[in-house]
Amino acid sequence: MNAKPMISLVIPVYNEERNLAMLMERILPTMSAMKRPYEVVLVDDGSRDSSLDILRGFAELPEVRVVELTRNYGQHAAILAGFSIVRGEIVVTLDADLQNPPEEIPRLIETMEEGGFDVVGTIRKGRKDSFLRIIPSKIINIVARKITGVQMTDWGCMLRAYRRQVVERMISCHEHATFIPALATHFGKRLTEIVVAHEERHGGKSNYPLRKLINLQFDLVASFSDLPIKLIMYGGIAMATLGVCFGIVLAVARLVYGALWAAQGVFTLFAVLFAFVGFQFFALGVIGEYIGRIYREVRKRPEYVIEHVHGDKAGGGDAQLKEKES
Ligand code: UDP
Ligand code: MG
Repeated sequence: MNAKPMISLVIPVYNEERNLAMLMERILPTMSAMKRPYEVVLVDDGSRDSSLDILRGFAELPEVRVVELTRNYGQHAAILAGFSIVRGEIVVTLDADLQNPPEEIPRLIETMEEGGFDVVGTIRKGRKDSFLRIIPSKIINIVARKITGVQMTDWGCMLRAYRRQVVERMISCHEHATFIPALATHFGKRLTEIVVAHEERHGGKSNYPLRKLINLQFDLVASFSDLPIKLIMYGGIAMATLGVCFGIVLAVARLVYGALWAAQGVFTLFAVLFAFVGFQFFALGVIGEYIGRIYREVRKRPEYVIEHVHGDKAGGGDAQLKEKES
């Protein structure tokens, strides 16, 4: 037995039947070559294809455990579910679609151990994604840097390593809509990032359509800052001031040019009115996004429910139906 601390891999899986065999084929040799204890925790996030069946097959291996969630809770909640049962001292997350090459894991661990870091992030070199997928990521990166105040380059890449204490602090947060790489910056002091390779999705297609990306963006912003509400307030103040000034201009023009001119100005008024009404609806929408999230938090439903942990040899029966209460 090696004295080096154990490594836990946490991999969220949602409809990845075409990638799982290849994923394990690449992970297992990489991990065993490191000659230290490790485990692979695969989280089935309510897949509708045969992913769960394939995963249950892998759960026969001594190093593998499979967490079955009751439905689809989203990538970040799935990772948290995996975090709740990990046994390792170092926890590495990665995607199941092989966009994060598992061969990079040893370098990630080396950086963490040699530098004594709490979190090691990654920058994707030569990113292999569509243009429409890269633009939202760029926005997410800028926003994440602004609101966390941490100068990490690439927040979207899930190939990351965390120390156990950071993971424990994250799971004790009980947040519903969260963004794990940003959350980790609150709980780890020494952060760094390394450049890693990025590959095309092995099979299937991205689970992030534009709607989900916008939602994720809002999770990130809403759970870490109230800047949007403040911006709206400032915008509102600016608009009100402009409105008053415009009113004065209209009144003066009415006195100078007479009643006829004022009647013709009616369309200008309409235009201004529509702009204001539009802005109000937008403002309501932003506030609504916050209220929706607050509502989800106060309902206190668990952020995920584990139906079963397959392959839990050491854990006994208590891992079954383990719920994470808020
Ligand atoms: N994923 C998940 N639940 C979801 C959506 C995605 O567990 O609701 C997993 C998915 O199986 C993959 C990872 O999260 O392992 C990243 O998803 P994807 O590759 O679709 O995202 P992208 O690479 O486009 O950011
Ligand atoms: Mg992907």
